Amino acid sequence: MLIRRAEINFSVVVDLRVANGRVAAIAPQLLAQDHETVIEANGAALVPGLRDHHLHLASLAASRSSLRCGPPQVHTAAQLAALLGAQGEGCGWVRGIGYHESVAGEIDRDWIDCHLSNRPVRIQHRGGRLWVLNSLALQVLGVDEAGADPLERIGGRLSGRLYDNDRWLRQRLGRERPNLAGVSLHLASRGVTGLTDASPNNGPEEVRWLRQAQQRGELLQELLVMGDASLDDFGMEPAASDTVASSLRIGPRKFHLHEAHLPDYEQVCAGIRQARQAARNVAFHCVTRAELVYTLGALREAGVSAGDRIEHASVTPPELLEEIRELGLTVVSQPGFVAERGDSYLEAVEADDQPWLYRLRAFVDAGVPLAGSSDAPFAEAEPWQAMQAAVTRRSAAGRSVGAAEALSPEQALALFTSPLDTPGQAPGRVEVGAVADLCLLDAGWKSVRLDLAAARPRLTLRGGQVIWAG
Ligand SMILES: [Zn+2]
Repeated sequence: MLIRRAEINFSVVVDLRVANGRVAAIAPQLLAQDHETVIEANGAALVPGLRDHHLHLASLAASRSSLRCGPPQVHTAAQLAALLGAQGEGCGWVRGIGYHESVAGEIDRDWIDCHLSNRPVRIQHRGGRLWVLNSLALQVLGVDEAGADPLERIGGRLSGRLYDNDRWLRQRLGRERPNLAGVSLHLASRGVTGLTDASPNNGPEEVRWLRQAQQRGELLQELLVMGDASLDDFGMEPAASDTVASSLRIGPRKFHLHEAHLPDYEQVCAGIRQARQAARNVAFHCVTRAELVYTLGALREAGVSAGDRIEHASVTPPELLEEIRELGLTVVSQPGFVAERGDSYLEAVEADDQPWLYRLRAFVDAGVPLAGSSDAPFAEAEPWQAMQAAVTRRSAAGRSVGAAEALSPEQALALFTSPLDTPGQAPGRVEVGAVADLCLLDAGWKSVRLDLAAARPRLTLRGGQVIWAG
């Protein structure tokens, strides 16, 4: 394939040839070979394929057929009640996502029963760690009031709440897995060629499922799969494979902390050491100051390995940022949260923590490797909108959220172009010999950088193959 007159690395306009999955030649002018596909870029920017360094594929695919139960679609108890009430006509499970207590407080089975009782309902809190089930759902799942299951009981009675146990729910619901074609194509249309699935419960079964989805052509992106200790000995493909087709690798062991129920400290330290034995990095979910303090303590005690990650780093005051830098950790942030959730952060987050929310610039200035991601489905799978939020630091209502943390458009793009295996390290460049993971935009960088959210990829290549053409 010959791409004519593309602007690369924010500067020169060149002709570029893709062959055998790689960028084969770059020159001011290249002659088309016989039968070669020719794409006229007309001076539009050609950037490295984007990487979303933290999302959850199965939930993202499932969320497409789910009810939105929280902001920005639903704001009040009455709205949610009406939305649920309207489902009474259908049949089968109702799956809700994105619930937040600002809508109707700490809802339980009784609250849902009041509005929808003739279909099994499960509603996920937007933080991803809580499901609330109605009474029929408990019945359908075969839950016994006195049973030995992980559901919450208050005064001996099931509240309908299930914390931190997606695996139990999945087992009870059966093994049906969502089709990934829709989300994969959507991401390809945004120029995304690589993904990290950060689900903490990923095990061998999930890895096999994802690999098969790639082999069927349902999942078009290269994939790094985080997960639990059960992936320590799972047959890994070599990280530095030379074949473009080799596109699924096992990533860090994920530790999912929750401030209210922090795990046994010694066990976490032992878990880190165990990951080392399997030559794995570790990644810690840290959305509060206390979770970050706990994590840094454990890592200091058990030892850091280059490539260990802090996911989210939602609240990072200066002394903890300094410790992250000192320990040599990588931070994987979600700049899109500032746009999508900024208004509720400004109301709900303590004043002391406000300046330290989803910091970006401070990490870059301190030399901490910083990568970007969506955390979809907990935010939209829209990397260009997330990049624009990194530049403007504006909430949906247009309020400023930590303006000092704003990045330049080029820095924002770099968050999404470092390799999956080294997030936050040197971003990809369009150069001869590079794997042809590329995204051709519809305008030159000078105009694209004015509003990244409006960027429209025209063509996405993964390993030299077209995975999306607009
Ligand atoms: Zn996540």
